[in-house]
Amino acid sequence: MRGIGINLAGKDFPEQERIKLVKETGFDTVFFDYKEEETDCLIETSRNNGLIVDSIHAPFGKINSFWENTAETDSYYSLMIRIIDCCSKNGVGKLVMHTTVGNHPPAVNNDGLIRYKAMCDYAKEKNVHICFENLEPFPHFHSVMEYIRDYHGFCWDCGHNLCYTPHVDMMRLYSDRLMCLHLHDNKGVTQPGNIDYRDDLHMLAFDGVLDWQWTAKKIAESNYKGPLTFEYSNRTVNSCSHLTYKQFLQTAYERAVKFREMVDFAETL
Ligand SMILES: [Zn+2]
Repeated sequence: MRGIGINLAGKDFPEQERIKLVKETGFDTVFFDYKEEETDCLIETSRNNGLIVDSIHAPFGKINSFWENTAETDSYYSLMIRIIDCCSKNGVGKLVMHTTVGNHPPAVNNDGLIRYKAMCDYAKEKNVHICFENLEPFPHFHSVMEYIRDYHGFCWDCGHNLCYTPHVDMMRLYSDRLMCLHLHDNKGVTQPGNIDYRDDLHMLAFDGVLDWQWTAKKIAESNYKGPLTFEYSNRTVNSCSHLTYKQFLQTAYERAVKFREMVDFAETL
């Protein structure tokens, strides 16, 4: 049976406690954002609680610097190397990263692609798969995916696909390289012609307009057999303020189980 995973959303609750509750609720896997000084400990606590650490998510605030050549570029590159080392040392085989932040990154360029390639070559030596996640501007993500075809892969964020690039069938393009999932819901593109992060609501599954049947079919048709990983945010937790944190996790888990049944059913068709 496929595992079910979640990230550690909910900033008003200590992370160590969140990990315990995630396990108690029934989740099999967990992932979290990289934080210098804290990640080793979170990995250890997760494993001590019987959770598999599916991936680490790289910070993305400065990622546009990969397309430039500034002091920020060097410091972000060094940070990525430290994160790769952290994953490698802890035996976490997947590192999720973005290729842009916001709607106006610098244009795609050769120096940027060469930088991605150098980082990916290093990660491969360290047995860490970089999983590139789809975001707003398609050309950057697409260029990196085309340039780096070996060993590394795709993190399908179905919510981003719905509210940023609904015209692109990401799974038709990249499902053969799928290594990671970020599942969540939203209301689609609410401001046509002005697409931005405001639509990326990370709502609970089945609360928005995502076609979960279609999503299940896409996953079932792929070779991906990893966990069904849900990515919620502090916004999601805030929108569930009528629930305790425990109830929030229980609701998220029940919906994840429902989705797993849909994937299992789609596999029989
Ligand atoms: Zn995501």
